[in-house]
Amino acid sequence: MQQLKPYIAPAMILTLAVVIAVVTSAISQAQQQQPPRPAAQPPWESPKKEPAIITPGAKVGDAPSDAVILFDGKDLSGWKSLRDGGDAKWDVKDGYMQVKGGTGDIVTKQEWGDCQLHVEFATPAEVKGEGQGRGNSGVFLMGHYEVQVLDSHNNKTYFHGQAGSVYKQHAPLVNVSRPPGEWQSYDIIFTSPRFDEIGKVTRRARVTVIHNGVLVQNNVEIHGETWHDRAPAYIAHPAKGPLKLQDHGNPMQFRNIWVRPL
Ligand code: MG
Repeated sequence: MQQLKPYIAPAMILTLAVVIAVVTSAISQAQQQQPPRPAAQPPWESPKKEPAIITPGAKVGDAPSDAVILFDGKDLSGWKSLRDGGDAKWDVKDGYMQVKGGTGDIVTKQEWGDCQLHVEFATPAEVKGEGQGRGNSGVFLMGHYEVQVLDSHNNKTYFHGQAGSVYKQHAPLVNVSRPPGEWQSYDIIFTSPRFDEIGKVTRRARVTVIHNGVLVQNNVEIHGETWHDRAPAYIAHPAKGPLKLQDHGNPMQFRNIWVRPL
């Protein structure tokens, strides 16, 4: 057996050499298939436009310097009646407006599309009714898409009809409602829908809602008009629309309403 050794060694060396050659070739090919590395550059092109410098509100919820004030607690000069286009007929006192049941919804005179919106509201301290009949109003984006306003403190109703819901479409992620009579806030980021020239929706609206500082709608897609008795559908409308507040018959209060068109 010892006589075979001189013949085995060269065979092993040859095999090893072939393996090394194959592996080296494979590595070389893999390296050649890598996309070429760009010459030294920053990871992304630097934006050319400097972000505008604005002044924040004195405290969270206060309007920043570039906001459009829709209601400052003094009068309804920025609003009109949806029903007849005349003066908004809700009451104003002590820095807030209050729904005057039966006078109808009110809309802003100004219109916009994509926006950041801040609204504060209080449901009646004197609790009356239940379900959708208690402390009901609504914040209608572009006059079409309702973020529900309701007394949802110890008040059962269908989940996609609670406070902070996109009405009849999306329940809020949590129920963070304050008790009746206490001031609450919505901070809303809205992306408006887009329509083509024949009225077909080409981009659906989306909305994020923060209720009392807590996320309750996370950039959800709005499926269309927020009707109560029909499946949602889109109906083409202009690129800008007003903010609408709903008269649902309950003496709801609103204050500190501002918007930043985006
Ligand atoms: Mg409502």
